[in-house]
Amino acid sequence: MKKLFVISGSSGVGKGTVIKRFLEKNPDFKLSVSCTTRPMRAGEKHGVNYYYLNREEFMQSVENGEFLEWAEFSGNCYGTNKKFVQNCLDNNENLILEIDTQGALQVKEKMSNAVLIFIMPPSLEELENRLRGRGTETEDAIQKRLNTVKSEMENAKKFHYNVINDDVERAVEEIENIIKNEQI
Ligand code: 5GP
Repeated sequence: MKKLFVISGSSGVGKGTVIKRFLEKNPDFKLSVSCTTRPMRAGEKHGVNYYYLNREEFMQSVENGEFLEWAEFSGNCYGTNKKFVQNCLDNNENLILEIDTQGALQVKEKMSNAVLIFIMPPSLEELENRLRGRGTETEDAIQKRLNTVKSEMENAKKFHYNVINDDVERAVEEIENIIKNEQI
């Protein structure tokens, strides 16, 4: 059976950039589009970045058993559509899930063919600098995020691979090698 690659990472670690670069270099891989209750950000599109649901619709999908996994992150719900994942795997497609660590560990429990990759910051200090450098968050929000990162790092120990994002190109190459070896 095709393997399912699950990528998580600490907030502010540049996970989005790494995955975007990976997909540019590996167009035969596709990214699962999740459902979320968080408001749409500028530039995002329904059905492209996420399927945007209200909480009631989301909870109905949970009740209907439509999610392979779901989790609450920073006050919003996020979930992976079970049917979509199954169809991709049945059609022998290469699929990546970019989800939070709680969701990734649920997938590990449910799918024996899941390979979990965690993208780490080079150091906590570096991450703190990056979060502050963005200049978009209050001190309170930064402290909250750093606490989340610490618990995410604890979860990272349960992942199959940890990749340090010290350099985007290098991190992408490491992920490519992991995937190549897993697919043999
Ligand atoms: P954002 O709101 O910045 O797009 O995403 C916030 C967090 O939710 C990220 O860590 C992202 O990986 C995670 N996320 C996105 N989709 C899913 C999903 O389907 N399930 C889970 N558990 N987390 C998700």
